[in-house]
Amino acid sequence: MVRVTVWNENMVDSYEDVRAVYPEGLHRQIAGFLKENEDFEVRMATMDEAENGLPDSVLENTDVLVWWAHIGHHLVDDGVAWRVQQRVLRGMGLIVLHSGHMAKPFQLLMGTSCTLCWRDGDFERLWTVMPNHPIAKGVGPFVELDVEEMYGERFDVPQPDELVFLGWFSGGEVFRSGCCWYRGLGKVFYFQPGHESNPTYHLKPIQTILKNAVAWAAPNSILPQIDCPQAYPSPEMIRAGKKAE
Ligand code: ZN
Repeated sequence: MVRVTVWNENMVDSYEDVRAVYPEGLHRQIAGFLKENEDFEVRMATMDEAENGLPDSVLENTDVLVWWAHIGHHLVDDGVAWRVQQRVLRGMGLIVLHSGHMAKPFQLLMGTSCTLCWRDGDFERLWTVMPNHPIAKGVGPFVELDVEEMYGERFDVPQPDELVFLGWFSGGEVFRSGCCWYRGLGKVFYFQPGHESNPTYHLKPIQTILKNAVAWAAPNSILPQIDCPQAYPSPEMIRAGKKAE
């Protein structure tokens, strides 16, 4: 089983235009379709809970963390952000959605500002540019989003290790909308569609992409801690009964 935690800052969810699209909140919508995969054990966490919803008891039992956030990035405790980064380096998968591009753990893992430009209310055609990638399985050459927020370049992130989706907007902009990075032993996927007042997470192709992303990001194992550097004896030294200095 892949232990998935869907994390939401849970702030814009009370807005009328968001409730009209996601009456139960974004995290419940996302967790709802992820649960359709019987290999996923899905729980939810929100920022207003103790330790921002990510105490060790939750984080240390999470294989893949899905992160939706928008206006409350600064309210996430620095220590929590650091713990998320460290767990990714030890093997946990991290899926960062839409306006989560400015989330503290994502910025820590990227090492850049992660800024971009935006304009809501555009048409987006999301092109699959790496159809052989596991996250693109069953998606087709493109997905059309009648209404989505334009995110435009330059997206201040390191060059992705794998670029799976490229967004094109009717305003003329393009954007690296589906990016993969490997950080330590962990995998990170950033996915641009998913503005809170647009019905994006109701769309089957988007749900397929995110289910695929969780499966891709799931680790074989997660290290209990990052080993401290030390002098290691070679197998020959061990055979000869010698110690490393
Ligand atoms: Zn947005």
